[in-house]
Amino acid sequence: IKPVHVVGGGLAGSEAAWQLVQAGVPVVLHEMRPVRGTEAHLTDSLAELVCSNSFRSDDAANNAVGVIHEEMRRAGSLIMRSADAHKLPAGGALAVDRHGFSAAVQEALLAHPLVTLEREEVAGLPPEEWDSVIVATGPLTSPALADAIAQLTGEDSLAFFDAIAPIVHYESIDQSIAWKQSRYDKGGPGGDGADYFNCPMDKPQYEAFVAALLAGEKTEFKQWEHNTPYFQGCQPIEVIASTGPQSLRFGPMKPVGLRDPRTGHRPWAVVQLRQDNALGTLWNIVGFQTKLKHGEQTRIFRTIPGLQNAEFARLGGLHRNTFLNSPRLLDGTLRLKAMPRLRFAGQITGCEGYVESAAVGLMTGRFAAAERLGRVQAPPPPTTAMGALLGHITGGADATTFQPMNINFGLFPPIAGSFKGKERKQAMAVRALRDFDEWLKPTPLAAE
Ligand code: FAD
Repeated sequence: IKPVHVVGGGLAGSEAAWQLVQAGVPVVLHEMRPVRGTEAHLTDSLAELVCSNSFRSDDAANNAVGVIHEEMRRAGSLIMRSADAHKLPAGGALAVDRHGFSAAVQEALLAHPLVTLEREEVAGLPPEEWDSVIVATGPLTSPALADAIAQLTGEDSLAFFDAIAPIVHYESIDQSIAWKQSRYDKGGPGGDGADYFNCPMDKPQYEAFVAALLAGEKTEFKQWEHNTPYFQGCQPIEVIASTGPQSLRFGPMKPVGLRDPRTGHRPWAVVQLRQDNALGTLWNIVGFQTKLKHGEQTRIFRTIPGLQNAEFARLGGLHRNTFLNSPRLLDGTLRLKAMPRLRFAGQITGCEGYVESAAVGLMTGRFAAAERLGRVQAPPPPTTAMGALLGHITGGADATTFQPMNINFGLFPPIAGSFKGKERKQAMAVRALRDFDEWLKPTPLAAE
C-alpha cells in the first residue's frame, strides 16, 4: 500500500497518522521542528501543547467537549489515550502533564512499524508524486507553505491577527429586551429586514459600558505578535472606544435606522448580533472583536441589556492565526476542492482548540485511510460532536464571516421533545454517543 503523507506532527497530524496506521495504511509524517521552529512551540516533540495544559471539560453527559472526548476514545484516539495516561487532578476538566503527554504520543508513533518520521519543512505545495496528503500544519503554518496554499486557493491571505468576536447561544438572548430588525429594515438576499438582534442602550448605560471597556483587563501582545497585520484592519472594540467617547456610537454600536419597539424611539446606542450558523443557534456580536481577558468579557458583555443571561459559545480573542475558508474551499471529507489529493486537518481547517484539532485529525485520517483502501467512509452524522463540528466547518458556517470554532451544543441539530434545564444537552449527548457508535461500525468496500 502506498503511504499517505501527513505534513505537521501537532495535535491533528499525530492523530491523523495514528488513525491511518491503525487501518494498516503506511504514513510518512513530515514535521519541521527542530529544523525550523514556530513562534510558540518550545520543544521538538510531536503533539506539543503550545499554551494551556487543559483539554477542557471531561463531562460526556453534559458538555459538548466531554462528548467529543468520549467519541475520540471510542474511535481509538492516540491523543485521548495519551491524555488519559498523563491526567492531572483538575476537577471535571481533563488536564495533562504536557511533557508526559507529548512523549507518549511521540513514542507510540515512532514505535509503530508503519510510521516514518521525516524532520523537514514542506516549504511549498507537496510534490505531485504524493498522491494523498494531509496538511495539518496548524495556526502557525510556515510562511512558505501558507503562501503556496494562498496562491492555490486564491484567498488573499491565510495568516493574520485573528480578531474574533464573541458568539452567544440563541436561547440565552433575552427577547423581551432584544428585538429583531435590520437597519432601515433592509434585509440581505432572501432576508425579511429583520436579520439582526438589537440590544438597546440609553445614554447612561452607554457611558458606563464604554468606561468598563476602557478599564477592563486586556491580554498583552506577545513579542512575536507585533509583526502580523490586523485582518482587514479590524480593530478591537476597546481600541475604538479609546479614540473618543462617541466613537463606538458612530462605529459598531451606531443606532441609526433602528427603533426599539418597547419605546417607539431610536436608542442612544445599539449592540447588534448576527446569525452565525445555518441552524440559527449561534449569534455573533457584530464588530466586538476584543483583547479583553475572558473573565472580563463575560462580566462586561453581560451588562448589555438583553444579554444579561448570555451564555457564550466562544469569547473574543486576538492572535496570529492561519486558517482556510473551509466552507468555501473544502468538500465534505476535508479535501481541497481545487486539488483533491490534499486533505486538511486541525486548526488550519477553522476549528479551534487542541481537542477539536485532534478530532478533525481523527476524521481526516479515517477518510484518507478509507480512500486508500477502496472503502466507503461516510462523515459522522451531524448529531455527533465530530459530525457537528465537521458540518460546521465544511458547510454549515457562513463563508463570508467564517471564524475558528470550538465544539458546542449550538452546532448540533435541535432535538425534539420538551426538556427542563440541562436535560436538552444531556439528551443531545446521549444521542451523539449512540449515533457515533453506529458510525464506527465497519464500512463496506467501495462499489467498483
Ligand atoms: P499544531 O499543534 O500547531 O501542529 C502543527 C505542526 O505543524 C507543528 O508541529 C509545526 O511545527 C508543524 N509545521 C508547520 N508548518 C510546517 C511545514 N511547512 N512543514 C512541516 N511541518 C510544519 N488551543 C487550546 O485548546 N488551548 C490553548 O491554550 C491554546 N493556546 C494557543 C496559543 C497560541 C499562541 C496558538 C497559536 C494557538 C493556541 N491554541 C490553543 C489553538 C490550537 O488548538 C493549537 O494551536 C493546536 O495545537 C492546533 O493543533 P494543530 O495540530 O492544528 O496545530
